[in-house]
Formats: sequence, structure tokens, C-alpha cells
Amino acid sequence: MRAVTVTPGTPNSLRCVPNWPEPAPEEGAILAEALAVGVCGTDHEIIAGHFGEPPPGTDTLVLGHEALGRVLEDPTGTLRKGDLVAGIVRHPDPVPCPNCAVGEWDMCRNGQYTEHGIKALPGFARDRWRVHPAFAVRLDPALTTVGMLLEPTSVVAKAWDHIERIGKRAEWKPQSVLVTGAGPIGLLAALLGSQRGLAVHVLDLATTGPKPDLVRALGATYHAKPVAELDFEPDVVIECTGAPRVVLDAMCKAAPNGIVCLAGVSSGGRTIDFDAGALNRALVLENNVVFGSVNANRRHWDQAAEALARADQGWLNSLITRRLPVERYTEAYTAGEDDIKVIIDFTA
Ligand code: BGC
Repeated sequence: MRAVTVTPGTPNSLRCVPNWPEPAPEEGAILAEALAVGVCGTDHEIIAGHFGEPPPGTDTLVLGHEALGRVLEDPTGTLRKGDLVAGIVRHPDPVPCPNCAVGEWDMCRNGQYTEHGIKALPGFARDRWRVHPAFAVRLDPALTTVGMLLEPTSVVAKAWDHIERIGKRAEWKPQSVLVTGAGPIGLLAALLGSQRGLAVHVLDLATTGPKPDLVRALGATYHAKPVAELDFEPDVVIECTGAPRVVLDAMCKAAPNGIVCLAGVSSGGRTIDFDAGALNRALVLENNVVFGSVNANRRHWDQAAEALARADQGWLNSLITRRLPVERYTEAYTAGEDDIKVIIDFTA
């Protein structure tokens, strides 16, 4: 069977291997045929040789952590043949740390967690894969063409879950959310904000392409201007660009008691001039919280599956700007200017 692989640490080692071995039974009782995988910034970093780790004893990693498959067999009876399924990306560390011990592997303390297609576990960019029932998430049958969005949606479901938990520190009735960055994570964060009935604002540099209309279709407001020029103070900020100036300005912009979730990852290595004292003052005197958020646990995957099932399927489909067959994997992993989400279609 086919598998899209890399040698982590070796730039441009991306390959499609035609005779990759069938998934081993130890990988899980549920056998699925791949329908699609989504491509994200983490894949680009792995392909560039900056990130990623092969499974122990090998130098090759199967890519793909945004999975969608169809169940071929599940002898445990957890799922049925034909069900749509996605595999949870992160697995707990073996120690386990206090968080992994209670199923909060997204909060792993010791860094020994593993991740499909990223860190020491094979990914889902192969014709067939297996998953343990505890790490399999069933999707609504209506999500056949968009179910690979479940993984990025789980990431924003976790962000919202933690925002709401932090909000419970005192009386808190948020009205508005600012999402910075209208890529897949930003747009899905905006979707979950609109499902919560908040006034949603999305800020991005793009003035052309599909982003402004996708934002407006959510009933949200699109801003193509610097954060500092916005004329309101959001109760919640979900920062999805990782761009240093946007990150810092977003922290300053939050309303009193505001919660700023950093979900974008900066590459680092650049310094900018910034009045850190003024930021400190604003955060303390307004009881603001800034926190980072990565990955998702089972609860968030289940919340994400519900959120996607409730969403407008046409809107979700328009997030997918390119669908390419496996043979065109190099194109799929090459970023294009108007891309939102690119997927590799294993059925084409
Ligand atoms: C994935 C997360 C993962 C993170 C770091 C992201 O692209 O969505 O699940 O934890 O990369 O490896």
C-alpha cells in the first residue's frame, strides 16, 4: 500500500512509498481505509527538517496527523464497518506524568508523549491504518468530505474549553472574540465562537481570496488592519498567527478581565522593540490572562466532532481550497498563496 513518508531532520526527504507494509496489529484493533489527510504548517516544518521524530528503531516517519478514514473492521464492536473515523493524534507518555495519567495528554508535563505523523508514531497518510478504540473518534456520516477538519477543530475546541475554564475564576459574561489569522485554525476558532453566540471578529492581512467571505458567512466581521487600529476591546482573543507584533498587540488589546489564548506558533529568532512594562501594567491592572494552548484530549475531540456536525457543511467544504490525489503529494505539501486547507484524497 502507499504511504507518504519523510526522514525527520533531513530536508526534502518527502516520498510516496508504493509498497509500505500493512499496519501492524499492535497499532490497534480498528482497521480503517484512508479517505483523506489534511496538510498543515507542522507538516511543512517536518518536511523542511525542523521538526518531527521517527518511531523508535527507524529513520522514516509516515506523515499525516489530520486523518479521515472509513472503518473496515472493528472486532471490539466500538465502531461499525463503514463508520467515518479519525485517530487522536497524541498518546500519553509511558511514565505517565500526572496529566497523562488522567487522560490529559494534551497537558503532558514531561514531553515524552508521542504523536501520529509528528513524533515517534506513524501517521495516517497511508492507504490503511489502525487505531486503538480509545483513540478512535467516530464522525457524523455527513462529514465524508470534510471530516479531516476534525483534528484542527479539536485544537480549537481545547482552546475554547480552557478559555471557558479560566473565565470561571470570577463572574464573566464575554460578548466578543477577536481571532487573529484567518487560516484553518483561525476560521475554525471563529466558527466555534459563532456557535457560542459571541460577536466574532477575525483579523487577517488578506484583502482578496476566500477569507473575507468565509468570515462574513459566519456572521462575523472581517478586519484587514493592524490589531492596534481596532476600535473595540475583545473579551476573548484567540491568536493564531504567531507573528510577534500581532501577538503582543493582541495581548494589549484585550478588554478588562480579558483572556488571550495563544494558539499560533512563532518560528523565533527575530527581536522587535516593545514596551514590556506597559504590557505588564495593562495585564495586572485589568486582570488579564494570557495562556498558550496546544493539542487536544479525548473530551476536545468529542466536542469538535459535535461542533463539525452542527456546522454548515457548505462552509466547511469551502475551507478546503485544494483536494489532490496521492500521486500529487508534492504539490499538496507545497504551500499556495490562496490556500486555506489542502487535503490529500486517498480515494481519487
Ligand atoms: C498538531 C497538534 C500537535 C502540535 C505539536 C500541531 O500541528 O495539531 O496536535 O500537538 O502540532 O506537535
